[in-house]
Amino acid sequence: MSSIEIRNELCKYAQKTVTNKLVVGPGGNISAKFEGKMYLSPSGFALDEVQPEQWVEVDIETGFITDIGLRPSSEVLMHLYAYRANPNIGAIVHTHPPYCIAFTLVERELPIMFPDQAALVGMTVYVDYVLPTTDKLADALLEKIESSSILLGNHGLVTTGRNLREAYYRTEVVEESCKIFLIANAIRPPKVLTDEEYEEIASLESEAYRIQLLQKMK
Ligand SMILES: [Zn+2]
Repeated sequence: MSSIEIRNELCKYAQKTVTNKLVVGPGGNISAKFEGKMYLSPSGFALDEVQPEQWVEVDIETGFITDIGLRPSSEVLMHLYAYRANPNIGAIVHTHPPYCIAFTLVERELPIMFPDQAALVGMTVYVDYVLPTTDKLADALLEKIESSSILLGNHGLVTTGRNLREAYYRTEVVEESCKIFLIANAIRPPKVLTDEEYEEIASLESEAYRIQLLQKMK
């Protein structure tokens, strides 16, 4: 793995967030960590427009930004604080998925409903709306950063992972979960997995294998 490979991976998953309608226009931002630096999407770009050399390099410890003539995403603090607080985080995906946003308008606690959600994501936490791009949002997120998926009220979703692949697929699974919840809940309160059913899935050897695969880069 090199910083060039990280930049190419970022382009690949940035493209997926747009193709899969997890963001529209210049919304959302993603980053990945490599050797003490984070590589973050630049401000003002749609994620699928960012070229490999345009990911902005920021030193995680000092916050020093390598000048390439582009500003980092306005959510730079959110990314910096998260990497500083939890060294296990290797990548962060922040998007505005429509079902996630719709969910936060009417609900807060996302129940565990199906096996992929239980195995790949687990519990999703919620933070109340705060003004985006401020240190208030970065601070609010920091309190919940032990969870790998955080719904932002009236705003969107943040997922983290050991690498981009894991962080990205968590975003897809949480968006799918919110979609399924909203569809089912429109008919009647959904039957969700019990705590025992959830724990049973988390302890399956076959699931451990799948999770291991997800953590590999390619
Ligand atoms: Zn946002």
